[in-house]
Amino acid sequence: MPTDRETMYNAASISKILKGELLQDAGAPEIAHILLDSRKLIFPETSLFIPIVSTRRNAHQYIPELYEKGVRNFLVSEHLPLELYPDANIILVKDTLQALQTLVAWHRQQFHIPVIGITGSNGKTIVKEWLFQLLEKDYNIVRSPKSYNSQTGVPLSVWQMEAANQLAIFEAGISQPGEMEHLEKIIRPTIGIFTNIGEAHNEGFLNRRQKINEKLVLFAKSDVLIYSKDYLELNECVLQFHSQIGKRDNQQGLQLLAWSRKTDADLRIISVDKDHACTRIDALYQNAPIYISIPFVDEGSVENAIHCWALMLYMGIDHQVIRQRMDLLGNIAMRLELKQGINNSSIINDSYNSDLGSLAIALDFLQQQQQHPTRTVILSDILQSGRSDASLYEEVAGMLKKKGIHRLIGIGKNISRETRAFQDIPGLKSQFFPTMEAFIQQFSQQDFQHETILLKGARAFKFERIGKLLEHKVHQTILEINLSAIAHNVKQYQALLKPETKVMAMVKAFSYGSGSFEIANLLQFHGIDYLTVAYADEGVELRRAGITMPIMVMNPEPSSFDAILQWNLEPEIYSLLLLQQFEEEVRTSGKTDFPIHVKLDTGMHRLGFDKKDIPALARILTENGQLKVKSIFSHLAASEDPAMDEFTRRQGRLFYEMSHELQKALGYIGIRHIANSAAIQRHPDLQLDMVRLGIGMYGIDSGNGEMQEKLQNVSTLKTTIAQLKYLSEGETVGYGATWAAPGPAVIATVRIGYADGYPRSLSNGVGKMLVRGQLAPVAGIVAMDMLMLDVTHIPEVAEGDEVIVFGQQLPVQQIASWAGTIPYEILTGISQRVKRIYFEE
Ligand SMILES: *Cc1c(COP(=O)(O)O)cnc(C)c1O
Repeated sequence: MPTDRETMYNAASISKILKGELLQDAGAPEIAHILLDSRKLIFPETSLFIPIVSTRRNAHQYIPELYEKGVRNFLVSEHLPLELYPDANIILVKDTLQALQTLVAWHRQQFHIPVIGITGSNGKTIVKEWLFQLLEKDYNIVRSPKSYNSQTGVPLSVWQMEAANQLAIFEAGISQPGEMEHLEKIIRPTIGIFTNIGEAHNEGFLNRRQKINEKLVLFAKSDVLIYSKDYLELNECVLQFHSQIGKRDNQQGLQLLAWSRKTDADLRIISVDKDHACTRIDALYQNAPIYISIPFVDEGSVENAIHCWALMLYMGIDHQVIRQRMDLLGNIAMRLELKQGINNSSIINDSYNSDLGSLAIALDFLQQQQQHPTRTVILSDILQSGRSDASLYEEVAGMLKKKGIHRLIGIGKNISRETRAFQDIPGLKSQFFPTMEAFIQQFSQQDFQHETILLKGARAFKFERIGKLLEHKVHQTILEINLSAIAHNVKQYQALLKPETKVMAMVKAFSYGSGSFEIANLLQFHGIDYLTVAYADEGVELRRAGITMPIMVMNPEPSSFDAILQWNLEPEIYSLLLLQQFEEEVRTSGKTDFPIHVKLDTGMHRLGFDKKDIPALARILTENGQLKVKSIFSHLAASEDPAMDEFTRRQGRLFYEMSHELQKALGYIGIRHIANSAAIQRHPDLQLDMVRLGIGMYGIDSGNGEMQEKLQNVSTLKTTIAQLKYLSEGETVGYGATWAAPGPAVIATVRIGYADGYPRSLSNGVGKMLVRGQLAPVAGIVAMDMLMLDVTHIPEVAEGDEVIVFGQQLPVQQIASWAGTIPYEILTGISQRVKRIYFEE
């Protein structure tokens, strides 16, 4: 593959940089890519695989598979049986993560360009993307893809630096003390931006000051630091940090460029005026009045824009130019959205930028989607300068090939000129249009069906227009599901498990209301061991959508046995009658060793075999070979309740006895499991061979609350205001006229009712929703499709405003508690007519 890299690497040179041991030298092919995640393999020949070792997973296990797929360069911290990998280069180091960081820090040192490093609690990614928008005309810029800011994300970002780049922008995030020191060496920013410091989660740190000081480490060698003085604690820490590092040998020391809305500063903000869609910001800089205007009105955007402004001033960009570009700032899509499309298709909309880094991420998400036979990419010209088109599109073609894309629609002059790059990819059909207009003119709905379509376009192409043609119209009440948060939550629970403990993920009841194959795809991708559904038809739906992992069915009815056998689902067997019925069905089918899961009743008294049934159960199971016990399990009745811990322990002991007896009689050992979400955390001794993770994965700690701060919010239910009503004192609202205005009142009618799953018991002030960040109580009785809120106290309220029913700021636990129920019931009760939108951050 052609490369513009200034520095060329191969195994020998990397081994030297790392002072590693080249255990096996199979020649010196060029290494251009670093691979950390075996699932993300695109370029086997030119990749170096670096297996990261965590307590949970040792990625050395993927080496055989990657060798099979053509990877020939490995950086390892364990000895390998070299004879199995005869033509691979193998470098041995002590610690692979450290080696990765050292290698990339070395790479960074080869470049002498301005590097902007961004840290802070919020806004890092937006500031980075805005700076890219604001400066791309002046510089060839390399930047972190999406929000790659972790201990592994930063090295992958910085590794992208190449000779053509004139400016680099990287973000850095940390979760515990000591981490920033590593990131500092890798990024080595010349210009720093500290966006802000939030109230939330000091988790991992003693307090906020410790967190700030740790973050400041990023700027230990920078020339300048841009920050806002208005965060008082941050300002104090910055000044202290500044005097500590003082003047360094033969260097200028750190210059501070502070801005403030309240007090004297290098960039003194004088006024911030909002009209309905724009904000004008006036300031004094070096004693001269200047201003910008941005097409946003929220406070976060104002702060982010001022950071960008300060940076542009520091870089000496003309006021006029700054103003023009600020006017044109665009939305940043922080997430990849998955929506339902026309003709039974799924749409992934990522139409705000196009560069190779973000294309690779979007293709990964596309590859996870198993629900349709065809995967299509609609791709605009890639506007990444400094590369010849031929090499750029060859690389794109390589990615499409590796990801098994079936269909490419290329839009734009450049990609249309490089059609040859895509011609010889087996199984790829391609079509090209020189302009958006040409594509839209030819567009026919019939050309798109039963496929997953990725829209990936540079901003200038306005791919939103294609989105409009392909996406189902969603009505204004939607449930947003954060897939990255689910993955994060699963990891939090996994961290509590022994490495060998398996995880069964509960996706019953439409994944607790959040979706079917969308969630299962994610869990399959993340290597969860088992899925569980309540009924066979839920399992069939997952199979039809391409889910291949084992699926347990908790309520197998005789009428569904057919489907269970046909689709390879695995029934829970809880009674002798069910066992006999199912065994007969399997015998007729001629199958043997069909997997089943035996449910024991240890005190829940819902479903399951009693102790006295075990001899008979074991006899039937051993007499013939139709069935094979994959697992033995039971369910805890009160694992979340400390007052019931003795009861739970008794259940555990009984399960031990019963499962042991059954295992002995069977002569083999199946997987044993009893713990649900709360038990994973509260009863570690009950994790056994597998756990069944349910509500915790969806972001809710059903235990003692200690997990809650580690979990991320998954679901956000939102709607909009349809109409505002201005009432006089005494006028009433809704059915039965049960609510009367205590004085002049403003009432907002919103588009959600009990048919959407909002409980009627929340009528008349029992329930509240968030409007413009403030709580607004329900006024009157909740109707079928609508309800009214009292918004009298929210002055700027307007028709069309977004209303949060529950989400990050208003947890579903709160709604449940108002309604006198549990979050499970609220979540699973959100009706199917509420459209789900899925996204990855
Ligand atoms: C629903 C369910 C779970 C999961 O419970 P959570 O409290 O959501 O973790 C586990 N096991 C069985 C048998 C279940 O029905």
